[in-house]
Amino acid sequence: MNGPGYSSICRLLFLLFIAVPLRGQEHFNVTFRLDFASVDALLEFSEGRIANVDRVASLRGNQIAAATSALLAREPYSRERFAQELERFRNGATAARDMFGLSSAIRFRNEIRTLSQESKKRALERRVMATIAPFFPEKARLNAVIPVYFVAMGNENAAAFVRSIVWRDDVPYFVGEGEGELTVVMNLTRSVEYIRDVQVQFIDMMSTLAHESFHAVFGLYQQQQPVWQQISSRPEPHWILAELVQNEGIAYLISLQQRSGAQLSAGQLSSSKQSVADLNAALNELASPQLTRERARDLIMNSNLSGSYEKNYGASAGVLMAYAIDAKLGRKALTETLELGPADFFSKYQQLAKQFGELPQFEAAVIALFR
Ligand SMILES: [Zn+2]
Repeated sequence: MNGPGYSSICRLLFLLFIAVPLRGQEHFNVTFRLDFASVDALLEFSEGRIANVDRVASLRGNQIAAATSALLAREPYSRERFAQELERFRNGATAARDMFGLSSAIRFRNEIRTLSQESKKRALERRVMATIAPFFPEKARLNAVIPVYFVAMGNENAAAFVRSIVWRDDVPYFVGEGEGELTVVMNLTRSVEYIRDVQVQFIDMMSTLAHESFHAVFGLYQQQQPVWQQISSRPEPHWILAELVQNEGIAYLISLQQRSGAQLSAGQLSSSKQSVADLNAALNELASPQLTRERARDLIMNSNLSGSYEKNYGASAGVLMAYAIDAKLGRKALTETLELGPADFFSKYQQLAKQFGELPQFEAAVIALFR
């Protein structure tokens, strides 16, 4: 019983035992600062329980949501204009154009309030962090507090988003990544519009929050990694698109995991396969000498902001690529792509596509762009 075999098994068990908490990523110290003040105030304001417009307009979540809505509508933004719209909204005016997306807050007031209360009492942070942490390399050292603002307004094309922000005199300035504080904004309206059951709404909201949190934490991780610094220092359009494909692909895989156990539906699978062909064509075009700035901008914008899974070719190709790597090579291989960058993400996928006929391949010349 005391032979070498026994003691090495004991040692192995001991190592496994102590390895468990360590594998839980001791260096992953990311927490949220959850802020519900904006959603609560807008609901109270809509019921006449808050009279002061400026109090609602100056809350940080509302300010970020309003400024971002103006940006997406390609309109100039000022806090005065936002306060005027709030005033009109309180007086029941149905705006011809609801630029700030305020009307849903009245229409779904009770549902939003119930979801907000549910979100405050459930262990939101623990659940979201437990979901995203395994997607980062074990040795990643991440320490951050990410502000998350819950709102009940905003542009219909952005249910949730991440922005880098510097605050001066309580006014947000939107800056490049690496300069400000990466901040998540969640519009609760979007989870109650089409779903009735509050538990299902909660899961929908949480999966969106996990998706956005992945972007925020990945943004922090990229700032520390030489390969990503190199990419951001030479922002050629095909590298920008490749980064987007990888970043969105993994973020959508995370949403998918929270909603449906990481299974792509048959419809999603066939759209994603078509998207790989579209992405292949787009990357070729982006690397061509005839490319214009306008065309580059359109190709990159359309890859993720076209409004549907089928049309967002970059995101939907990315999710198939991430899904294939995760399912066939394992989670460790997927997290390795975060460390090594898009070249590794594309080449791991291509290697699988050569091996498994059901996965569409990229042209060799496209893969070679990332060498
Ligand atoms: Zn995203």
